[in-house]
Amino acid sequence: MTEPNTTELQPLPDDWQRALAVVAHPDDLEYGCSAAVAAWTDAGREVAYVLATSGEAGIDTLDPATCGRLREREQRASAAVVGVTAVEFLGHRDGVIEYGPALRRDIAAAIRRHRPELVITLNHRDTWGGVAWNTPDHVAVGRATLDAASDAGNRWIFPELAEQGLQSWNGVRWVAVAGSSRPTHAVDARPGLERAVYSLLEHRTYIEALTDQDPEAYARAFLTSNAEATGERFGGTPAVAFELFSR
Ligand SMILES: [Zn+2]
Repeated sequence: MTEPNTTELQPLPDDWQRALAVVAHPDDLEYGCSAAVAAWTDAGREVAYVLATSGEAGIDTLDPATCGRLREREQRASAAVVGVTAVEFLGHRDGVIEYGPALRRDIAAAIRRHRPELVITLNHRDTWGGVAWNTPDHVAVGRATLDAASDAGNRWIFPELAEQGLQSWNGVRWVAVAGSSRPTHAVDARPGLERAVYSLLEHRTYIEALTDQDPEAYARAFLTSNAEATGERFGGTPAVAFELFSR
């Protein structure tokens, strides 16, 4: 039996200017780390979002074509609340994203376009803390993002990208994984928490399909309780946790 990890989390490095968040679905960032994003954009840092899919298979009562358009719109609104205006969709198919060279190439291309020092992604492991099974989309995109941080810097891996004018970028210094069951670092959630609630609320159609609770009460309770739980390992400060991989 493994003991619960109670090691204190370290502050996430803040000597960087550009971050790129790469996740599978609209709402993946809002369910965890948008409070950190709000604090970063407040500080004048640039953050861009790349979504592998448009989340078109996410709502049972909506056909994918309608749902994808709606969720892209909600994602753009949600990003704007925390100061993010660059939002891109890679057009992979929701629910059946395949891990492999095509996905790594698309993410490496995004990294070359945005040239971030910090890359953010979502839990790439099989489970959420060993208690709930993760989705194959999160696993595929998380793993491919960790890989693409290196792919982006190697001009021989996807030479076709350079032919499209995307020169290699070997400047990614860290990949920070949100929602990991093995977090190492954290960011103070307090300055951005209220905007994180409103950012999550922009996914209103999705939330209303998910729960009968009042959407705002649902969003606030979810984000606050997560931030407080992380705070137990961050000096009592409500926080957003990340597992940090340095390069
Ligand atoms: Zn997701």
